[in-house]
Amino acid sequence: MDSRAKTSARVIYNYYLACSEKDDQLNKEVETRTEKDDCDPVGRILEGFHRFKTTKFDKYPELYRELAEGQSPKFLVFACSDSRVSPSHVLDFQPGEAFMVRNIANLVPAFNQLRYSGVGATIEYAVATLEVENILVIGHSRCGGIERLMTLPEDGSTANDFVDDWVKIGLPAKAKVKAQFGHLPLPEQIHKCEKGVSSSGRSSPPLRRPSPRVASRSSPSLRHQDSRSSTT
Ligand SMILES: [Zn+2]
Repeated sequence: MDSRAKTSARVIYNYYLACSEKDDQLNKEVETRTEKDDCDPVGRILEGFHRFKTTKFDKYPELYRELAEGQSPKFLVFACSDSRVSPSHVLDFQPGEAFMVRNIANLVPAFNQLRYSGVGATIEYAVATLEVENILVIGHSRCGGIERLMTLPEDGSTANDFVDDWVKIGLPAKAKVKAQFGHLPLPEQIHKCEKGVSSSGRSSPPLRRPSPRVASRSSPSLRHQDSRSSTT
């Protein structure tokens, strides 16, 4: 953690401690700070936490007391990391409702303990431990990750260390789009792929060949959601 991050964490922690004792005073501090500089990242975080605490945490103590004891989410959600398409915002998920994986282009990689252990661990925990009942893959339009997948250089060259390799998980979806819609203009192909990557989750590799522990559990239902609210 760099020094700026340490400072931010300390400020937030101190704010949290003080918040319980001096709400009125802190209301003023937050308001003043926000008025002074709308682009101040620390001020933005403090403001957001304060709003959460006063309008949700303090308002529904029973809910948060219950959640402190444990979680029992009904959904495992795969969504893009895109800042415009937060599932909590788009689908109005409440705390405790959805266990989430967010990555570039909302991709679900095949079972691979060496390359995608982060995603694998999330799937395993959600299915084997939390016993989620539904798996939801949310696609969205104007996805930069899908655009990159659809425009990868033919010669295999790459301009980055991770993104190109990651989006190649979606190559089967790209191949389907090229086969069916290769005659369409590229933007339309990209849009078909945005829909196809998320809907292909119905037969995605991890669920056709899940890890042994996940496979030993009863199969949760798999749903596809194409988020339309992200067309910004
Ligand atoms: Zn995206």
